[in-house]
Amino acid sequence: MILVSVFSINLHSQSYKPEKIYPEKQKVLNYLSRPEIIEKFGKISDALWSYAELGLQEFKSAGLLSKTLEEEGFVIEMGLADMPTCFIATYGSGKPVIGILMEFDALPMLSQKGRVPYKDPLIPGAPGHGCGHNMMGAASAAAAIAVKQVMKLYDIQGTVKVFGSPSEETAISRPYMVRAGLFNDVDVVIDNHSSSEFRTNYGVSGNAMYSTIFTFSGISAHSGSSPWRGRSALDAVEIMNVATNYLREHLHYTHRMHYVILEGGEAPNVVPDKASVWYYVRNTDERVKEMHERVINCARAAVLATDTELDIRYLTAIHQRHANKSLAELLQRNMEIVGMPEWTEEEHEFAREIQKNVEVKETGMPLKVNPLKKPSETFVGGGSSDVGDVTLIAPTATLRFPGLIPGSISHHWSTVSATYGSAAWKGLNAGAKAIAASAIDLLTQPEELKKIRTEFEEYSKDHPYESFLPEDAVPPLDLNKKLMEKWRYMMEEHYID
Ligand SMILES: [Zn+2]
Repeated sequence: MILVSVFSINLHSQSYKPEKIYPEKQKVLNYLSRPEIIEKFGKISDALWSYAELGLQEFKSAGLLSKTLEEEGFVIEMGLADMPTCFIATYGSGKPVIGILMEFDALPMLSQKGRVPYKDPLIPGAPGHGCGHNMMGAASAAAAIAVKQVMKLYDIQGTVKVFGSPSEETAISRPYMVRAGLFNDVDVVIDNHSSSEFRTNYGVSGNAMYSTIFTFSGISAHSGSSPWRGRSALDAVEIMNVATNYLREHLHYTHRMHYVILEGGEAPNVVPDKASVWYYVRNTDERVKEMHERVINCARAAVLATDTELDIRYLTAIHQRHANKSLAELLQRNMEIVGMPEWTEEEHEFAREIQKNVEVKETGMPLKVNPLKKPSETFVGGGSSDVGDVTLIAPTATLRFPGLIPGSISHHWSTVSATYGSAAWKGLNAGAKAIAASAIDLLTQPEELKKIRTEFEEYSKDHPYESFLPEDAVPPLDLNKKLMEKWRYMMEEHYID
C-alpha cells in the first residue's frame, strides 16, 4: 500500500498579477486554487494511476471520469464511435463550442511503485502509467468543471465538450472519433499532455503513422518427420522483417519503423501455421502512405517466398500534428499567468534522486514556464499522436503541464513513479488552471476565437483533411483484452479509490 499524505503537500494558492485578469478568469483560477479541489482531482489522478488500464479496456477510468463530470451537471454520451470507453461530456448549449481533449490509458509492462526513485515494480510485468495520462484525465475534468462553475455564475453562453478519448498510447481513438463526426460542431480544441515542463508549441510536429498487424497463414506439419508438407507462417514473418530492414536504407531519412512479433508458433516441432507481426510505420503526412505501401510489398514478397497467405489488419492510421499558432499564443499567455507550481524541497530531492538513477544532470524540478516553441526548422520526427487528426478538423493546440521529472525517460519506470503523488497533483492543477483560463478567454473574448478560426480556415485551404484510415477499418476492441484480463485481478488489490 502506498499512500501520500495530503498534509505533506503545499496547497497554498499562487498569486496572480491582478491587472491582467478579468473577474471571470480570476474566478476560474480561484476555484482551482481551493485546497479541497486540488485534493479532489489529485485523488482522481492517483485512482486512475492505480487502475492503469490499457487502451480500449479503460472501463474503470472512463467510468470514474464520466461520473465526476456527470455529478457536476455534464451530460454524458458513452460508447461513441464503436468504442465502449469513448465518451463526450457536454455542458451548456449553443456557440461557441469549446472542446477539451481527455486521455486516460496506460502502457504495458511498466508497473512501478509510486514516488520510489529506483526501479521497483508494484506487480512485475503489469501495466503502468508511464506517460501521465492519469494526470491528464484528472486535469481535463478539473478544467471543464471549473469552466462550468464560472459559466453558471456569470451566465456565459456557449458549450464545453470534454472528449474522453481511449487508447491514445496506441493512437487509436481519434481517427475513428473524427470519422463518426464527433468534432463536427466544435469551434476550437484544447489538448493537453503531462510533461517535465510547462510549455506549448505551434506548427507541424511528430509523425504520421500506420499501425497494422500482418498475419500469415501456412500449413502445420511435423518439423522433424515431414517438414516438406508444412508451410511456415513464421518464415514469412522473418522474411518480411529482413526485407523491411533492407528497405530502411532506401526510405527518406524522416522515417521511423518498428515492430513486435505477436505470434510465432508454440513449439519447434510443429511448423507454425499462423504467425503475426505488428508494425508502426512513421513518416511525414506527405511520405507515410508511400512508405506503408512499400512495407506491404515486403509482406507480399514473404508470401511468395513461403507459399503462405496474408491478412493485413489496420489498427489505426493518423496524421502529424498541425497546432494552431493563435491558440498556442493564447495558451502561452495563460500558462504565464498561472506560473510554475511551488515545489517543496522533498519534491526537488525526489527529482534529483531519479535524475541520478537515470544518469542525467541533477537539476531537481523545473522553475520556469518555457517560452512559446516555434516549429523546428529541420524535421525531428519523434512519436505520433492521434491528436493529429483532430488538429486538421478544428483549430487545436497542446498545453504541456509539469509534474514529471526533467531528464526522466518516457514509457519507463521513472515516469510511472513520478505520475503518482504530490508533484503530479500540483502539476495537473497548474495544467487545469491554464486550460480553464484559456477556455474562459475563448468563451468571453470573441475576437480571440475569430483570430484562431481565421488562421485555421486559411491553413485548411491547403491542408484539407483526408483520413489515412481505410473505410472498412474498425477499432480493435480485442487488442488489449487478454493482457488486461491477465493483470486486472492482481492490480485490483492495489486500487486506490
Ligand atoms: Zn502520452
